Amino acid sequence: MKNKKASKLALAGIGVLAAATVVVIGLSPWDKATSVPSPVVATPAPTPPPREAVAFHMQDWDRGWVKYADGMVQTKDGGATWTEVPAAEAALVEAGGPAVSPAAGAQGAEVAPAAIPALLSLETGAEPASLSLPQPTTVLLRGTELPVKQAQFLTPQIGWAMPPSVKPEGRPLLVTVDGGASWSDAMTEDVKAAILGAKTHLLQLQAEAGVYASEADAKAVMSAGWKLIPDKAAPGDAVLVRHKEPGTVTWQGKTYTLQPYGAGYFTYLPIGMSAKPGTYPIGDQTLTVVAKKFETQYLQVTQEMESMKQDTARINADQKLIDAARSKSEPTFLFQGPFVKPIEGILTTPYGYTRYVNGKFDSSHMALDLAAKQGTPIKATNDGIVVLADLLYLTGNSIYIDHGMGLFSQYAHLSELRVKAGDHVKQGDIIGLVGTTGFSTGPHLHFTFWAHNVQVNPDLFFNTTPFRWMKVGK
Ligand SMILES: [Zn+2]
Repeated sequence: MKNKKASKLALAGIGVLAAATVVVIGLSPWDKATSVPSPVVATPAPTPPPREAVAFHMQDWDRGWVKYADGMVQTKDGGATWTEVPAAEAALVEAGGPAVSPAAGAQGAEVAPAAIPALLSLETGAEPASLSLPQPTTVLLRGTELPVKQAQFLTPQIGWAMPPSVKPEGRPLLVTVDGGASWSDAMTEDVKAAILGAKTHLLQLQAEAGVYASEADAKAVMSAGWKLIPDKAAPGDAVLVRHKEPGTVTWQGKTYTLQPYGAGYFTYLPIGMSAKPGTYPIGDQTLTVVAKKFETQYLQVTQEMESMKQDTARINADQKLIDAARSKSEPTFLFQGPFVKPIEGILTTPYGYTRYVNGKFDSSHMALDLAAKQGTPIKATNDGIVVLADLLYLTGNSIYIDHGMGLFSQYAHLSELRVKAGDHVKQGDIIGLVGTTGFSTGPHLHFTFWAHNVQVNPDLFFNTTPFRWMKVGK
């Protein structure tokens, strides 16, 4: 009974306030100005009274409207500027149309408000429905507490609030970019920067979410502080590391800098052939290296071919070219789709085989040898930038493609090069033809991947991308 009375009183109070405002508006000199000719003698213009606010809605980051007791205004720049809506268009604007293009200077691409909870949930790991947005009834503006008739938040940090009345020269909405801790009645540079930052972050979340195999995978990776994709690997493999923050990873005596991509920071970690089985801390995660057995292969070549490997001057000169080409890589992932096999050849030497040439230990074969007919077209395994396309002594006609973030694919022994350094290639583009140039016993493609200058197993990449190396629950 007591509560009911109290709320009735409160309602009555609002009613009186509203009524008082309406009365003031009723006596407004604005109305007189439309019906009475302007006075000839200049008198100080009376200050127009505040307008009574009824409701507002921000349709997205830029477009919104505020309905007054005596009209409507709209914004197309997030509330920086407001224009009066003609009475005939008010209903249409309130319904969300007509579709107005964002004002000049407004960001083109942005995330729709309806998509925001799901995107933010990727980072928090929570359900989108559990996103709680502030609902303030008062705001603090420059030390003064003001009542709020209505508030709307797009993210837990960024929102608008509508006071019950607005001076004609004032902005109809207040804005906060810190979850309501502080409010502003102007689009200051700080407010603009914070809103742009939030928009950009949502776009980054959206872009990164799309690279994983599923939404569950995206959430598992993006809600973690550190993530190893995958967290179990064998010598010759590579692992993709993601961290929420910038930083570095030290592994096997080398330090790798995490590069920004999407909403996170990444690096490849090559698991060298000398990596010992065991567990290793990476960030707050544990990398497990498991043992792997590689087969042995015996190769017979002519004495003439065998002596090729003794021309160290030419080999060293080539190595300088290769090192220079691989010395820098685009600091982003240059591909979108999966990697493809460059040719459908017969696998004659798998990755990692220990190779003896003419009975003597030669090296580990850190690539795939795919035998195919001379002249078979070779596809780029994925999008990237050609950094070297040249005739080299041992590997013959050779191509290196940068796929970004320190990952390169290499194609050797070609009969013909169809690209040159600097070319941007797409997955499946024909970059050359199968041949047997250089140290080669017959037409085949010697194909490998380099992650931070370590040769890693090509089989990891085919028909997938490193973002899909993890499986939920593994
Ligand atoms: Zn080979």
